[in-house]
Amino acid sequence: MLASLPPEALQFRAAVREFLTQHLDDHLKQAARLTTGVYTEIEAGKRWYKILSRKGWVAPTWPEEFGGTGWNALERHIFGIECFRAGAPLLFNMGIRHIGPILMAEGTREQRDYFLPRILSGQDIWCQGYSEPSAGSDLASLKLKAERVDDDYLLNGSKIWTTGAHFATHMFCLVRTSSEGRKQQGITFLLLPMDTPGLAVKPIISISGDHEFNEVFFENVRVPVENRVGAEGEGWRVAKALMQFARSNNVNTGWVREALAHLKRTAQVERDGSGRSLCEDESFARQLADTEIFLDTVEVMELRVLSSTRQGESPGAISSMLKTLGSQVKQRVTELAAEAVAYYGFPFQPEALNPCAAGPIIGPAHAITAIPAYLNERAATIYSGASEVQRDVLAKRVLGL
Ligand SMILES: Cc1cc2nc3c(=O)[nH]c(=O)nc-3n(C[C@H](O)[C@H](O)[C@H](O)COP(=O)(O)OP(=O)(O)OC[C@H]3O[C@@H](n4cnc5c(N)ncnc54)[C@H](O)[C@@H]3O)c2cc1C
Repeated sequence: MLASLPPEALQFRAAVREFLTQHLDDHLKQAARLTTGVYTEIEAGKRWYKILSRKGWVAPTWPEEFGGTGWNALERHIFGIECFRAGAPLLFNMGIRHIGPILMAEGTREQRDYFLPRILSGQDIWCQGYSEPSAGSDLASLKLKAERVDDDYLLNGSKIWTTGAHFATHMFCLVRTSSEGRKQQGITFLLLPMDTPGLAVKPIISISGDHEFNEVFFENVRVPVENRVGAEGEGWRVAKALMQFARSNNVNTGWVREALAHLKRTAQVERDGSGRSLCEDESFARQLADTEIFLDTVEVMELRVLSSTRQGESPGAISSMLKTLGSQVKQRVTELAAEAVAYYGFPFQPEALNPCAAGPIIGPAHAITAIPAYLNERAATIYSGASEVQRDVLAKRVLGL
């Protein structure tokens, strides 16, 4: 997509490539290759995170004063593309992408000074506690009760679909501090360590056999008032600002482009049933081309969002468009991959996705991830705001309907 680059961008790209060649070892690349969900196997991901952190490259979207790289939009885009082209792990980084920006905007000085360096170093890993069993798209209906007791909030209730809660050290979450007035008004934004007494994490295993998300139960969990972000009852406003960052951060065209490149290689070796490769099959080749054009479109949109967030602006409603189209293109690539590997996708072999496992596999190596990735990617049009809800946002805010 980035066909011609100015000389300084080429220089930048060469420096990134050199760094990646030096630091991405075979284990990290293997873990990345086997990724089928929203992040690479966590131990490999943590190792890569710390390598980037030591180089000062873990938070390209942050302002320099807080430890960002100072790169422009093009450089950040090149960095993303090159990381995935070189086979880097997909990071679980709600700290960098979600809570970091909100602490910069809304946190107290103490919160920023304490938490931001720990996010940068990889010491703290954050998960997001928003959704509840009866509060997903209609998030403002959340019920997790937080009662003020002296200088603490006492939390009782539960969260669900909490990605990474089983290894996160901290959670940012929305709680109900009041049932008076509009339901959005009684919501408060809190930060809490995951080892706080009374908090229990229970796994949810997805259809592909992965353990990525969880239920989290709170029984008399005490959170100090100083861990509140914004005023009591202001949590909805804080969360809404964060969601625009989250949506615009959820698409990673570099990652999708690599998945598409993998799919093209698969299409060269897989047959169409009449002896030709899938690349020679007109119907499949047309679908590949359509998907690539679609991805190009999303990439341009991603660049627009990247350049607006550089100046610290909120990306606005375009983040809903990017989230909706970006999740569709990701799904499209995994649909075609599932079609390409055909019956090689049938064996259920989750152990083959462990980067440390060396046992025999059924079928060719390029087919192992196809079905788990296809299944996991169904969630892309649900998490971070379902597509139907994003379209509502676009209808209201862009079309004025
Ligand atoms: C893989 C994955 C990871 C997740 N990780 C996290 C996490 O880390 N932290 C967290 O807090 N949450 C997380 N979630 C939860 C996610 O944010 C919710 O699933 C999402 O907001 C949808 O809510 P729901 O599941 O309750 O579905 P519902 O809100 O009940 O929606 C069900 C269906 O109804 C449609 N619908 C709902 N409202 C409308 C409307 N107004 N107009 C038209 N259609 C509508 C939806 O689009 C959907 O198709 C995750 C979810 C998934 C799938």
